[in-house]
Amino acid sequence: MRKDNIVDISILVPLYNEEQVFSILIERIKKTIDKVKFSCNVYLIDDGSFDNTAFLIEEICKQDSRFIGVLLSRNFGHQYAVSAGLSVCNAKSGIMIIDGDLQDPPELISDFYDLLKKGNDVIYAVRKKRKESFLKRIMYKLYYRLQRKISNFNIPIDSGDFSMLSRRVVDSFNKMPEKDVYFRGMRAWIGFKQIAFEYERDERFAGETKYTWKKLFELAFKGIFNFSDFPIRFITRLGVLSILISLVYFLYNLYRKIFFNDIPQGFTATILAIILFSGVQLLSLGIIGEYVLRIFKQVQNRPLFIIDKIINKENED
Ligand code: UDP
Ligand code: MG
Repeated sequence: MRKDNIVDISILVPLYNEEQVFSILIERIKKTIDKVKFSCNVYLIDDGSFDNTAFLIEEICKQDSRFIGVLLSRNFGHQYAVSAGLSVCNAKSGIMIIDGDLQDPPELISDFYDLLKKGNDVIYAVRKKRKESFLKRIMYKLYYRLQRKISNFNIPIDSGDFSMLSRRVVDSFNKMPEKDVYFRGMRAWIGFKQIAFEYERDERFAGETKYTWKKLFELAFKGIFNFSDFPIRFITRLGVLSILISLVYFLYNLYRKIFFNDIPQGFTATILAIILFSGVQLLSLGIIGEYVLRIFKQVQNRPLFIIDKIINKENED
């Protein structure tokens, strides 16, 4: 590996069916990296797109050697596309991760770089104002606050994956063995010096969001179950509480029986209790299941992603 060939900073862009945004994305990135004072290249990760994205990536890589294409063998999902990029990217100083839909302005690279050079290891962008739909905004707000309340350590509120990581943070990330990647949580877990950078998140430039409600809920679940013990602790507390309640109820009944002998005949209360506590049990089983599922994934030990092809990689080594 020729060390002098390795760039200072890489930009990493996961792309899934982004042909509509592609040309303007490349244009803006090019304009940005033409101007910067450090050496820079760009990793375009194709996450198994079924539109023209992969083809467009190959084309730009042919024209401009600063672009490196990483084509995954199928669609693994955003978090895994980012992991794939981080695993191959060997920039010396830092790596900036942006969305391909221009919601994260690539122009901020210089600001991020300055903060990196001031000794910060993670510069994570925090959204000042969201431009998503009202319902989505409310959900995000509630979710981030819930996550903050219950997670084992601090995951910054309103920060997404848009960030710059120092080399040692990327190395640490690549060493993390977990299979269920929740990037912003793992990033926060790594530690070192982390700093927020406020910005206004733009609307998606073109095309549709690739995060359906289902995917968003899955991501939210990861944030809760991978980064907190709260749900499982909650079961224990619930269990203790229901035992206490039944004890009090039993003593009260005993007392009425002995002193007043007016305990009513009938089973409404019994049925109610059965329903209530089967509910509690089902819920508890579900929560335990979440953890078991994660253990299962971990012991399965599959790779997180499979790379089909890397274009222009020889420019680096
Ligand atoms: N993305 C990806 N694989 C997926 C889904 C999304 O690589 O399975 C990419 C997508 O192309 C975009 C980024 O991840 O560059 C963020 O996705 P999107 O903008 O759809 O998410 P949102 O901003 O709506 O949360
Ligand atoms: Mg987006």
